[in-house]
Amino acid sequence: MRVAILTPPTFPFEIPAIRAAAQRALAAREKLVAASPHWESWRRQAHALKKEVITHLDDYLAQLQVQVQGWGGQVFQAADSQQANSILLTLARRHQTRLVVKAKSMTSEEIGLSANLMAAGMEVVETDLGEFIVQLAGDTPAHLTAPAMHLNRRDIAKLFAARLDLPWQSEPEALSRQGAAYLRPRFWQAQMGVTGVNFAAAASGHLVMLENEGNLRLTASAPPVHVALMGLEKIIPTLADLEVFLRLLPASATGQRLTAYVNFMAGLKPQPQGRQAFYLILLDNGRRRLAATPHLREALYCLRCGACLNICPIFQVGGGHLYGQVYPGAIGILLAAYLGGQTDLTDLCSQCGACSQICPVAIDLAGHIARLRCGSRRHPVLRTAVQSADLILSAPFLYRRLVPLGRRLWRQLPPMLAAARWGQDRQLPALPEQSFFELISSGQAPGQPPPDAARSEKK
Ligand code: SF4
Repeated sequence: MRVAILTPPTFPFEIPAIRAAAQRALAAREKLVAASPHWESWRRQAHALKKEVITHLDDYLAQLQVQVQGWGGQVFQAADSQQANSILLTLARRHQTRLVVKAKSMTSEEIGLSANLMAAGMEVVETDLGEFIVQLAGDTPAHLTAPAMHLNRRDIAKLFAARLDLPWQSEPEALSRQGAAYLRPRFWQAQMGVTGVNFAAAASGHLVMLENEGNLRLTASAPPVHVALMGLEKIIPTLADLEVFLRLLPASATGQRLTAYVNFMAGLKPQPQGRQAFYLILLDNGRRRLAATPHLREALYCLRCGACLNICPIFQVGGGHLYGQVYPGAIGILLAAYLGGQTDLTDLCSQCGACSQICPVAIDLAGHIARLRCGSRRHPVLRTAVQSADLILSAPFLYRRLVPLGRRLWRQLPPMLAAARWGQDRQLPALPEQSFFELISSGQAPGQPPPDAARSEKK
């Protein structure tokens, strides 16, 4: 039975480690962006490339499939997480798998892969240090790129001592060495390695995987079987298109000019016992539905850099666990409405707009969240009140009749009520010549002169 080593945070809470780590990542990014005069044109280029592939998703996927099969990989299409898990389980059983090593992959978190394989009796070991720490803590990742962001080094030292029976060390370098020494033999013992995919070039069939620790290349090459799980949206047209993403992604994620390891794969890896078996699983799980939604499909352009999490004032308070979903932050709010469980998280946005400005592929995150919020079915009382106000304020006939009634009712409110005190010095606005919404859409605030008149007054 698992015993809690770390005390889980209670709500409302603030985790200082989250804000500090987010600020560090933002500062490093800012420095690099300030020294990159072409940043905005790279953003536009990346946006246009993603738009092209998401608009013609099935054509590019068909090309990729042919290319990967051409170099010896087997390709599966999974409609949802259940199907993806079942394919993985079948493959694991076919190859008599007892131990699976895993590189960091948010797509595998999305389908709950580890829990599923463990329920089938297999051992699953996360090999990314952050993911390994989170696995030891019995937790879920707190961030897209920094899964253990919510834990400080003392928390991690405590975990290593309690779970792995290792001597107490609290220096980051010493903890990394301890983690690496524990994980290293697992790569050679495992029968199967599972990774994600960052980019897949449709024209040539190259799969590209980025990492900083070197664990992914061992996960992908040491075991006799490699399975790559990829969301449909990770596709790009050609390998030449990769350059702009290699500039934008690490800079936005960690403020690095380039990720430490960029792994390219376009063939079966030779091993002492023969060629390694390779399987690519293409996961839909709501992505095609999102691609078919014109005003929201931009969410599929996401590179999972995490910059929109770092900059978000809500994320900075509570981290990823606040969202209760695999994908947190602004992008998580959009994806939650389409991928898997289809959850409404639109409340977790202050509409400050910082996420839209920082996104390296120029996704209008705040605008899309506002659009999603318009269709939200939460808070029925508030919604009904807003819809009623909308009706009354846009119908002069109704407004004229209801305002005197409203004034009379307000005067009857018991004086101890906050609403009565609030209304003491306030008047309902007189009915303007135009309706409220005509004034708003003309850019004129109620009670103010029209914009043209204001301009001529200034002159
Ligand atoms: S939406 Fe943009 S900023 Fe947020 S994780 Fe995706 S690419 Fe990064």
